[in-house]
Amino acid sequence: MTKTYEAVIIGAGIIGSAIGCGLARRGWRTLNIDRHSTSGQGSTSSSVAIVRTHYSTVEGSALAWEGTQCWENWLDHIGTEDPVGMAEFRQTGVLSLKTEENGHLEKQISVSDELGIPYEEWSVQRIADKLPGWETKKFGPPILSAHDRFGQHTGPSIEGAVLFPRGGYCNDPRLATHNLQVATEAAGGTFRFNTDVTSVQTNQGRVSGLIVNGTESIDCPVIINAAGPHSTRISELAGVADKSRITTRVIRHEYVRLPRPERSSPDEPDFITFDNDIGSYTRPDLGNTILTGSEGTEAEGETPADPDDFDRNLSNQVLEPIYRLAQRMPTLGIPNSPSGIVDLWDVSDDWIPIYDRSDLPGFYLAVGTSGNQFKTAPAVGELMAELVIACEAGQDHERDPLQFHLSRIGRTISLGFFSRNRAVNSTSSFSVLA
Ligand SMILES: Cc1cc2nc3c(=O)[nH]c(=O)nc-3n(C[C@H](O)[C@H](O)[C@H](O)COP(=O)(O)OP(=O)(O)OC[C@H]3O[C@@H](n4cnc5c(N)ncnc54)[C@H](O)[C@@H]3O)c2cc1C
Repeated sequence: MTKTYEAVIIGAGIIGSAIGCGLARRGWRTLNIDRHSTSGQGSTSSSVAIVRTHYSTVEGSALAWEGTQCWENWLDHIGTEDPVGMAEFRQTGVLSLKTEENGHLEKQISVSDELGIPYEEWSVQRIADKLPGWETKKFGPPILSAHDRFGQHTGPSIEGAVLFPRGGYCNDPRLATHNLQVATEAAGGTFRFNTDVTSVQTNQGRVSGLIVNGTESIDCPVIINAAGPHSTRISELAGVADKSRITTRVIRHEYVRLPRPERSSPDEPDFITFDNDIGSYTRPDLGNTILTGSEGTEAEGETPADPDDFDRNLSNQVLEPIYRLAQRMPTLGIPNSPSGIVDLWDVSDDWIPIYDRSDLPGFYLAVGTSGNQFKTAPAVGELMAELVIACEAGQDHERDPLQFHLSRIGRTISLGFFSRNRAVNSTSSFSVLA
């Protein structure tokens, strides 16, 4: 039997589920399709789920700041209690170190001023007082452990930090996605799992439907590609993969869980840290542990991956950010057999996502999330819903980009910023920090 929907969203990760929710709440008959058995099982399930606002661009920070308000009021955002449980936002604060390489975070400070994002500038003395276990000498720029100078100081001191007290993390990204699924269903949207999208169909130059599992057809005038690391494969099905100026690539990211170094006092803060001097980040986790991974140093390079066939085992390279972290935290225990997670980032040329229509009318893109769009997803769901509704109503988004109002922070941004055909944004950090 052929079924009809107003929009089909390919993917039920955090981005696809948020888009389903955004459209269903605006009265659209939606269907999210995912090949997994439930929502949030793709790359979202591996997310470190850090919620931070220090991006290099106003638009990137604004979207993250709007997202933060949703995480802070998660039950209100979802609007109904999920019987499976509600994800929690843990507001630990995010401490980011100033380095020459990150411009001493001057851009991020000025963007925070512009958007009213609270922050505190921390001197090295303050860092030493609050985190007495830390070595505050300078080690950067980050290098591999095999390098001759590894472990030697490159300066007497780091250069201070910025604390963003409203930052934190979501304790369970898969559950948060399920919460969005429940919110979507409460608004009349539907989900279908264990279903593979195998073909995109067109009629007279626009989307007309799709084929799932090789044979079954589903009619729909609008399709949104939210397939995460598989997004290029889906764009290929629609014949638009090579039609955007901004391209995407798939790379591996791995991180480990380590015992937390002993506290110097019971009230020592449990910040999320971005230490650009050593090129490692940390996030507190359950059971007195921390998660750590690489910020992506030049020395480490990238590991491209095939989303249908990649190695989920930790590589030896995962030791690099741990060794570097041990420079900052000398009492850090380094396990003989580290355990952790390997998953994929769908990275754009400038590490800024593509939220746009495509060259095929009716086919939309929410792709290239570049390892940094978990936190923004609640806002992205609304943004994409407004974009689809405007374009389907005839707005010429190419010539007259939609202006999207972020209602919680009272700021309007041009969605031309996320265009598939933008010039590579030279103000990006060209890293996961974007
Ligand atoms: C290791 C890691 C750490 C991260 N840390 C952070 C962080 O700290 N903070 C942050 O903000 N962001 C972080 N991110 C990024 C963030 O998690 C991602 O941007 C986000 O989860 C992507 O969501 P998505 O819904 O686009 O993709 P996914 O969750 O991958 O969902 C895509 C879905 O599409 C489905 N699909 C694909 N092809 C098909 C098909 N043909 N038919 C049917 N279904 C299909 C897949 O099964 C999948 O479920 C991290 C990402 C990773 C991998």
